[in-house]
Amino acid sequence: MAKLEIKIYPDKILRKKALEVKGVSGAEQKLASDMIEAMRSADGVGLAAPQVGVTKRIIVIEDIEGKNNSSPYVFFNPMVVKKIGRISFCEGCLSVPDVTYDITRAKSVVMEALDLKGEKVRIDTGGFFARVLQHEIDHLDGILFVDRVGFLKRKKVLKEI
Ligand SMILES: [Zn+2]
Repeated sequence: MAKLEIKIYPDKILRKKALEVKGVSGAEQKLASDMIEAMRSADGVGLAAPQVGVTKRIIVIEDIEGKNNSSPYVFFNPMVVKKIGRISFCEGCLSVPDVTYDITRAKSVVMEALDLKGEKVRIDTGGFFARVLQHEIDHLDGILFVDRVGFLKRKKVLKEI
């Protein structure tokens, strides 16, 4: 199995807006499974396709809450359709190593996507899973978590990364 390499900031691919997946076929499923392998070997809980140099709207997330028989979630074309509340929590990213920052995001979200079989799914979730979802979906739009630190902290952050 070809090993995918995780792209590190300031790699330009991390800033590209990823394209919608037209359908879920063998090629997309294979890529998702390679992404899961890359995520696990880097000890991450989530990964977005641009992080391995592929500008497609695909994310994978570990089954953090144990609701998916411990198999990771794969979402194609994920889209947040509703956000509820605001909460600040410490975040890191495999593409921006060695730093963590408190980031404010929605407390819970409703997300729509296609699953590994290409079927439409709607997920209503909160807690850490909602946070990882928002972080990974940001990657599909070229947004990194460090872009979401407050204005006052931004200068310090840029120096650190
Ligand atoms: Zn990330």
